[in-house]
Parts: sequence; C-alpha cells; structure tokens
Amino acid sequence: MSGQRPYLKNAICPLCGTEIQTLAITKGYVEPRYTFDLRSNSVDHANLHSGLHLCTSCGYVFAENDEVPSNAKDIIKTEAYKTCNGIDFDDEITAEKYYKYALIQLENDNFYGAFYAFLFGAWVCDDHNNKELSVMFRKKTLEVFDVLWEKFEISEGFYIVRADILRRIGDFETVIKEYSKFYSLNDDRVMIAQIQVLLAKKKDDRCHFLPEYSALLS
Ligand SMILES: [Zn+2]
Repeated sequence: MSGQRPYLKNAICPLCGTEIQTLAITKGYVEPRYTFDLRSNSVDHANLHSGLHLCTSCGYVFAENDEVPSNAKDIIKTEAYKTCNGIDFDDEITAEKYYKYALIQLENDNFYGAFYAFLFGAWVCDDHNNKELSVMFRKKTLEVFDVLWEKFEISEGFYIVRADILRRIGDFETVIKEYSKFYSLNDDRVMIAQIQVLLAKKKDDRCHFLPEYSALLS
C-alpha cells in the first residue's frame, strides 16, 4: 500500500491565470518495486492523478513548475488538442490529461517528455483495466521511441524498456525477433531480454514485476 495520500489544493493555471482546484499528494515513503517498463509501485493511481493539472477554464494541461511554451495558446486551440485526435476517453480524465500533455511536448520537440507522458497514460489505463486505451497509449510511446531512435543515441536500458511495451501491446513477434539475441555486458539486461522473449513466446501480455524474473526463468 502506498504511504502517499491525495488531497485537494488550489493552483493557478500558468497560461490563463485562473485559479483551479486540483489534486496534490502527501509525501510518504514507499519501498520501490518496479515493473519491466520501470513503473515503480510508488507511481500509483493517486500519484498519477496528481501529476498533471487541467485548467477548467482554458483547457491547458500543466505540471508543477513547468515553463509555459510560447506556442501553448496555439496548441490548446487546435482540434487535435481539444478532441485528443478524436479519441474517446470517456471518464478517463487522468488519461486524457496525459494525452494532452504529450501533444504539448511533441509540438515542442520534447520527445522524452512525450514518451513518458504517453507511458504514464498507459499506466493510468492499466489501473482502470482499460486494455484498448492502454494499448493505444503504448503504441504512441513506440511512435515517439522511433523518433528518438532516429535523432539520438538510445541507451541500452531504454531499449530494454521498449521490449516490455512491445509485449504489452501484443507484438510478440518483434520481441522474439529483436530481443532473442540481445547482447549486453550488463547481465541483468540480458536476463530481462530473455524473460521478455520467454513471455512473448507464451503470448503473455500481462504486467510483471522485476523481482519475478528469477522465478520466471526457473
Ligand atoms: Zn487556464
């Protein structure tokens, strides 16, 4: 159980200056336990809920201490932003916030920011057992990953996280093809790649925690 609790607080929209009520979270220590896509158990639903704030007046989504990009006013007026490219989030307000936040990051070439916003969105949907939306979010992370791969040198750890995202959307074939012969000087990463391949061969698209890996391999 998380030692963190949500509470309501007032915040000022940095774009239009409207005072809104938003969720914040008390700080409490949680022994970290990670999933294969490096989600920590301290990033629980309350935590995800309070990570971003939606201005009820202008629709801008922001994180605390964020600098407002100069194109923010233009982005929030776009149909893509207003309608989330036509994606129906139903009552998944938190997931919608992550989607909108990712769009703002993309428009500002902050690809790592967009990647994590989409991944956090996937975690929100995992918590709500909304498979369709979590797959959509993970597909978006992969699109951003491809851009990152083209533009920057991708770290090995980041490449390993991708295996989990691929498996969670059911792309078992790519996991098996690309990660079966994964080689690294880091034994843990090799082991994680082996597990991902093993799970992919079983067509297992469920969430697994890192400490399970010895059990999964035995
Ligand atoms: Zn506002």
